Amino acid sequence: MSNRSNYVNNSLLLLFVEVIMLLPKIRKGIAMQSASRTLSPQNTHGSKSYSFVVPNICPHCGKLVEAKTSLYSVGNDVFVAFLNCPEYGECRKAFFAVYLASADDSNSLQFMYMYPGPYQTELPEHIRNLSPRCVELYNQAKAAENLKHFDLAACGYRNAIEALVKDFAIKYKDAASDEKLLRKPLQNCINEYLDNLDEAVSAYMVKEFGNNATHYPQLEQFDFTEQMNYLDIFLSYMSNKIKTHDIAITLPQKHLQKFASPASQAD
Ligand SMILES: [Zn+2]
Repeated sequence: MSNRSNYVNNSLLLLFVEVIMLLPKIRKGIAMQSASRTLSPQNTHGSKSYSFVVPNICPHCGKLVEAKTSLYSVGNDVFVAFLNCPEYGECRKAFFAVYLASADDSNSLQFMYMYPGPYQTELPEHIRNLSPRCVELYNQAKAAENLKHFDLAACGYRNAIEALVKDFAIKYKDAASDEKLLRKPLQNCINEYLDNLDEAVSAYMVKEFGNNATHYPQLEQFDFTEQMNYLDIFLSYMSNKIKTHDIAITLPQKHLQKFASPASQAD
């Protein structure tokens, strides 16, 4: 390749990176699992190799993948890794990560950004805000589901709702002082803290499917789709319930007083 075409290619890559860096979807940091690579940039003639981490959860499909990776130098100590969801999957989409050379001139590159940003869970905002542990377990279960490990996923979803019910109890049911709460069986938490029958029944069903997937031999025929239906119903109820609590709590005091005193509701 001539020096001129090298220069043009590098300039285009740099422009590409600068434009992409302005996009709001980019999120800094790898809040996900990652894997190590050691590669030489494909557009340089030197033999120097660099080690760097690449995301191994595809930002498009959320699957745990070993992404096909190629590294390019774009000048000014900036490097770009182009990644592809593997050819054996259905997704096969491309994504990329941007790196900076380390200041100490070592061979390691520092991760800066990836685009698109990390795969986002589809859990509602109010649940994400209330229970990061639920989100963590839910995402692990989702990763297992994407790999068709349905038994593991069933246990993971059951554990995710346990975290959610307990965090809900701590924040909205004055259970923070209950030292036994974290060791309390999920069924007891359902009985004590979920006063709506539909919430309690859907939580119970997610728990039962999860428990059944845990036991060997399994006690009943396992239907993962049915568990997911109950999970959707439960999360939908909980999202609305948390939202309702949050809005009620943040109502200005003068409005809350109207609710407390029927005689003052003239307007
Ligand atoms: Zn993918």
